[in-house]
Amino acid sequence: MQSHVETFHNFVGGRWVPSAAGETYELHDPADASEAIGRFQGSGVEDARAAIAAAQEAFAAWRSTPAPQRGQALFRAWSLMKERVEEFARTITKEEGKPIADARGEVKRALNVLEFTAGEGRRLLGDTIPSELPKTLIYTQRRPLGVTAVITPWNFPLAIPVWKVAPALVSGNTVVFKPASSTPLTAIALVKVFVDAGLPAGVLNMVTGPGATVGKELATNPSVRAISFTGSTETGRWIYGAASGTLKKVQCEMGGKNAVVVAEDADLDLAVEGVVQGAFGSSGQRCTATSRVVVLKGAKGPFMEKLAARTTSLKVGPGLDARTDVGPLSSREQLDKVMGHIALARKEGARLVAGGRRMAGGHFDGGFYVEPTIFDGVEPGMSIAQQEIFGPVLAVLEAEDMDEAMKLANDSLFGLSGSIYTSDLAKAMKYAEEAEAGMLHINSPTLGGEAHVPFGGLKQSGLGIREQGRRAIEFFTEEVVVYMDYTGKKRDARFI
Ligand code: NDP
Repeated sequence: MQSHVETFHNFVGGRWVPSAAGETYELHDPADASEAIGRFQGSGVEDARAAIAAAQEAFAAWRSTPAPQRGQALFRAWSLMKERVEEFARTITKEEGKPIADARGEVKRALNVLEFTAGEGRRLLGDTIPSELPKTLIYTQRRPLGVTAVITPWNFPLAIPVWKVAPALVSGNTVVFKPASSTPLTAIALVKVFVDAGLPAGVLNMVTGPGATVGKELATNPSVRAISFTGSTETGRWIYGAASGTLKKVQCEMGGKNAVVVAEDADLDLAVEGVVQGAFGSSGQRCTATSRVVVLKGAKGPFMEKLAARTTSLKVGPGLDARTDVGPLSSREQLDKVMGHIALARKEGARLVAGGRRMAGGHFDGGFYVEPTIFDGVEPGMSIAQQEIFGPVLAVLEAEDMDEAMKLANDSLFGLSGSIYTSDLAKAMKYAEEAEAGMLHINSPTLGGEAHVPFGGLKQSGLGIREQGRRAIEFFTEEVVVYMDYTGKKRDARFI
């Protein structure tokens, strides 16, 4: 039985403060719901406004801090995070549930992003453009926007905030950060890194609390110039509409229903490993998780046999146990949602070939564990083929030929990532040309991406300028053109 549960605060104007109304909420370990991990501020509109005001006040000084110096602050944060890798990884696992090896991978990703973005302080380049006129210099500058808002989901509680906050800061913006309500502990650890790195007061602010109040205020407040959001398509759609009232810049990375195509000529062992990693790694709670597999008829029998055998060999357990392949789902809501999708798939006539149950007995009773689950015989119209599940559930569809496989893979409102397994270059190229997803893989899983490479989706998976890499700076800056006439003479207006 726990005696003391620590209370954590918002970070506003350089100080850790309670919410104005004094409301708090408690969170529990998804691997053992009897264990509380902390109490957090259930902030409201007033708190969001205070954070926006602090960010506004800090903007003038931060924007005039030379960009390479802003980059240095990020390098210091990178160095501190490197010293705290294990602490971060354990916090992520404790709060979100993913296996500790996945959590370490997430910290590594965050470090890579910080390292790359810190260097952008020396590369905030503009263009020089030749003029039609003599003795005229035309050049462009990249300027920060002002107060920016960062709204993030729970499934990558460190990496996603880092890949938004870091480019916002290095570009000279100030930030109000609203993490997902279910993962504030990792967000607080991240803010502490920036505080210890010497970021001036008000440059980065963090407010925990519901999307419906804090998030809504950020989306509608006229002082916020841009919103970078990752989360569900439903919330993204709402934010896009709400932000239009004050003409904010908006960037939304949203849901996915990512498909793998397995051709007859694929290396089936490689394909099975890729599909299993993609579908069940991090319990399927990645936006780039494999949710569908489209198998060519000729490969179907042996592929399914290998897939079912490999899936049932996965070890499900607490994330802190190093032997665990698949951890718990992150919350009771996730558990209920995933079990609802499984029940619906059965009702619609999909054939269960592995898993399908909530795990019970011993330590499973206290956590939110679901067996890695495969449904075969899935038809394109079934909800399991169309809706994002965000859990360890895989839908298998069969195709006669490559044309049908492409049609099935593209039959989705989403378009985040995708993959093909084949040893035929012509099929790989057909896939790369026709697949409707923002990130395509050939002979590798649908997952992830590298820190310096653009990240984002097509269709209802992504909106606005891509995240990460150099593109991230484009979102967090605006371009200004300067025409400099050094003739010192009156121009003939006909030229202009
Ligand atoms: P949600 O959309 O529910 O929440 C995301 C964030 O938005 C949370 O901080 C949430 O706050 C906040 N929010 C909710 N409602 C509003 C609102 N009206 N106004 C402003 N903010 C609001 O998504 P989940 O957290 O459930 O994350 C899972 C989803 O994220 C999946 O659909 C997944 O595909 C997607 N995702 C996409 C990625 C990508 O890069 N494409 C990467 C990772 C996840 P609160 O927590 O308080 O509700």
